[in-house]
Parts: sequence; C-alpha cells; structure tokens
Amino acid sequence: MHNEDLGFNSLAVHAGKKDDCMNSAVSPIYQTSTFSFDSADHGAKCFSGEDKGYIYTRIGNPTIGELEDAVAKLENGFGGIAVSSGMAAVNTVYLTYLGMGKHLVAHNSLYGPSRAIMESLYPRFGVESTFVDATNAENVEKAIRPETSLIYLETPANPTIGITDIEAIVAIARKHNIPVCVDNTFCSPYLQKPLDLGADIVLHSMTKFINGHADIVAGMLVTKTKEHYNKLRPVMVNMGFNMDPHQAWLTRRGLKTLGIRIDRAQENSIKVAAFLEQHPKVEWILYPGLASHPQYELGKRQMKGPGAMISFGLRGGFEAGKRMMDHVQLALLAVSLGGIETLIQHPASMTHSKLSKEAKDAAGITDGLVRLAVGIEDVDDIIADLNQALSHV
Ligand SMILES: *Cc1c(COP(=O)(O)O)cnc(C)c1O
Repeated sequence: MHNEDLGFNSLAVHAGKKDDCMNSAVSPIYQTSTFSFDSADHGAKCFSGEDKGYIYTRIGNPTIGELEDAVAKLENGFGGIAVSSGMAAVNTVYLTYLGMGKHLVAHNSLYGPSRAIMESLYPRFGVESTFVDATNAENVEKAIRPETSLIYLETPANPTIGITDIEAIVAIARKHNIPVCVDNTFCSPYLQKPLDLGADIVLHSMTKFINGHADIVAGMLVTKTKEHYNKLRPVMVNMGFNMDPHQAWLTRRGLKTLGIRIDRAQENSIKVAAFLEQHPKVEWILYPGLASHPQYELGKRQMKGPGAMISFGLRGGFEAGKRMMDHVQLALLAVSLGGIETLIQHPASMTHSKLSKEAKDAAGITDGLVRLAVGIEDVDDIIADLNQALSHV
C-alpha cells in the first residue's frame, strides 16, 4: 500500500519505516556514531552525495531518519530535520535566515526563550527584531522592512492562546518574498498543517505532543521545499544540534499514538473548559473551543480541533494563583505540555516571574493567569481535582 492512501493515524504508526530491518515490527536503534564504507570509491560517493549512504550520526542516521520522514509525511512537507530540542530547532531557523543587518518580524506572544534569545543574544550578531500582535495580520505588514528576512509565528501562542491567521500572513510574506516559519508545537500536525496553509517551515518542540510522554526533550523542523531543507540542514549539522538515535527511537514510539492521545486530551479539555467557564472563582477563560475565544471562527477554520491547552484567570490575582497551585493533587505543578498527564502552572509566580510589570502586561501575563495542559486521565478526576484546588482560592 502506498503511504499516499493512508490516513493520519496509519501514517503515524507506519510512516518512515526503512525496509532493511529483518522484518522486525519495530525498527532497531542504530546506536552508532559512524558508518563504514565498502571501498574508497563508495566513501567518496557518500561524501559527494551521489550515494545516499550514511557517513556519521551528526550528519544522518537511519533511526533519526525514520522519525524525520514520519513527521515530514504527517506535515505534508518535503523533509524533516530532527534536532536535540525545540530550542535547537528555533536556533537553526534563526541562524539560517538571520544575520548581520537582517531583521525578524515575530508574534509578540511566543514561547519565552524564542523571544528572549532574539532580544538578548542575537543583537550581538547585528540582528534586529520587531515583535507585533500578529493576531492582526496588518501589524505584521507594517513591521516589514527591506532587511526583513524571516517572519516567525506561533499559533496558538504560549501562554495567551492567541490564534494568528497563517494564510493571511503568508499572503503578506509572499508579496515581500520573506519565508514564514510557524511553531506548531501546540497543535501538532494532527490539528494543524501550516505547510498546507502556505508556510515554508514548520517547527516543533517534540518534547510536547509528538513524543507525548514527558520523558524526552526533542525538536523538529519540516520544510515545504527542497530549497529550504538544503539551507537548514547544514546549519543543524555544523552547529551540532543533532538528535541522538535513542532519543529519536523513543520519540518515534511516542508519535505512533499522537492522534488518539490528542483526541482524548481534547475531549477532556472541552469538558474541563466548560467546568471552568461556569466556576465563580474563574474570571475569564481562553480556549479555542469556546465561542468566547476572540479568534473562535479563525480557530475553527484553521485547526481541526481546539486542542488541549487552556488559559484562565482567577479572581484574587497573584495570591489566588499561588493558592490554587499549592492545592492541586492529581495535576502536576509543572511547566511543559502535551504529555499524558495534566500539568498546571502559574506564569506570574513561575515562568514569567522575572519579567517587569510592563513586560508582563505586554505579553498578556496577568497576576491571576493559570495555564493548564490537560492530560488523558479520566476527566471526572481532573475536574474533581481542579474543583477542590479552587475551593482553597
Ligand atoms: C517547549 C516549547 C519550545 C521549546 O522546546 P524545548 O524542547 O523545550 O527546547 C518551543 N516552542 C514552544 C511552543 C514550546 O512549547
């Protein structure tokens, strides 16, 4: 059967499998740093690219390759580039498209370090950046300069759950011939396919939904074209951002259940969101599945489902947030998301505690904001836990 005929879950289970594994149901781990050549000529051909043979694991490895091919297939891309972490993926993109005199336009609400490195580290190399509220595409157009060489989006964004219109921003980028990269970590290809919407590069922290078991840190880039793939891959290889074969093997295993994990976490999230929305101690809630979400219609059009990330605000602000955190029992008080277990965190006292009041306001981090990553436990247990924790607020 050709992969083209298969649905998402079938591809998640089978895509990328190499044929040379002695018919084992699961591919072995090629735990090796290097590969031997048949002859000097063979070695020469591998280095020139004439022969696709493996050379050295930082450059390529069959176990890592299986994962790259599988995720690229699920994203409808040309090829995947696996890296050691989501941040290695972010830096591979930044280093490939930005440099002295170049300029980045990005959404103002990003995963913390994706913005922080751009403001603290990259200016040393002459890179400038403008962060705008990309949920209004016009703001992106206004920020573009002749030197702009990358547009970087994250949707839904962390932790404000703002949704940006990928197609609208791609249309603007096309006019100016600027590549668009979308961090698709919150959705995974199961819920959103940015390349189908015109983006050039998709980025994942596979630490989250793709691996899904909170036991791996990993990243991935998928490009729409060979041209972008050939620009990015040497940067990954030469910066040493590569993945390890064992890490790749575990991540490939996690990927097999991506669809059913998200179905379950999403089903739970819809019920948890309905519970939170009516709770007297909850002042507001942002979840793409609720009609009250400011980009509800866009979310329905752009995403296959509302996902498993919820942000909400507690009446009582900072102290209320801390009290709720101190009383959860089933949910783990932890950062990260996309795993099988429910995680809860309070950005004002935790992830964003070092930010100034102005920076918090600009990023939409209010004192009572709580971020919930809903897991696959029984939903009645999740709701009972949140209910008892809220009774202490
Ligand atoms: C976690 C995360 C990252 C960074 O990934 P790591 O695997 O932790 O390096 C980037 N983007 C988003 C949206 C994330 O949630």
